[in-house]
Amino acid sequence: LVTLSGVHKSFGAFKALSDITLSVAPGEKVVVCGPSGSGKSTMIRCINGLEPYQQGKITVAGRYLTEEEEVGRAVRQEVGMVFQSFNLFPHLTILENCILAPQWVQGKSRDEAVETARRYLKRVDILEQADKYPIQLSGGQQQRVAIARALCMAPRLMLFDEPTSALDPEMVKEVLDVMTDLAREGMTMICVTHEMGFAQAVADRVIFMDRGRIVEQAPPRAFFTAPQSARAQEFLAQLL
Ligand code: ATP
Ligand code: MG
Repeated sequence: LVTLSGVHKSFGAFKALSDITLSVAPGEKVVVCGPSGSGKSTMIRCINGLEPYQQGKITVAGRYLTEEEEVGRAVRQEVGMVFQSFNLFPHLTILENCILAPQWVQGKSRDEAVETARRYLKRVDILEQADKYPIQLSGGQQQRVAIARALCMAPRLMLFDEPTSALDPEMVKEVLDVMTDLAREGMTMICVTHEMGFAQAVADRVIFMDRGRIVEQAPPRAFFTAPQSARAQEFLAQLL
């Protein structure tokens, strides 16, 4: 569903991604971890067509991701993205946040969009708050809305970039539970997260990045119990 081959990305003279090769099969769940500045967000943004890259090739759902705006737009329709900061539109209600893109990007009728939105808001247990504004919800609730909003576009792939790291500890679980359900239902997911319990429970594969490279990839059990590289060992030691 997603392939990166030999991808390089620089910001000026700074190399943010070096020779990234990765492929993610339909239904697969991949957790990406690594130290700050290792290129995790940059890689996710490249996959979503939000960042141009200089070398190599990325394909998403069979589409070759070039710099053409049209291709980026087409890819973003198939890919749901959830960020650390919830990125809801503050001046729109929860329901309006969820029906905007399905109407204007996918051309759904308002009724159809509302029906889909209500279904997903119910699934993340926020339906009762549908007419409130984002600021009236807790961080955990807002992040659940962000996930529901992404699902309203019927994505084939979900990208998460540290979706719980801005949350108070007591709200982390409610968001991870929603992500775990989604994984169980077979969604293809690439998640940047340092939530190791989640990775253990859900990931098919853990990818460890450092300084713009994929240093190691392994099933979660193997990665957490016996990391091969010194850098991964150091990184895991710091998490504990
Ligand atoms: P974190 O865990 O802190 O989120 P990360 O692994 O997501 O880190 P990235 O955000 O991908 O790291 O950044 C990788 C490197 O690229 C960092 O050194 C960062 O400073 C640099 N970088 C990211 N975006 C830009 C940009 N727009 N312009 C210049 N440098 C950038
Ligand atoms: Mg990041």
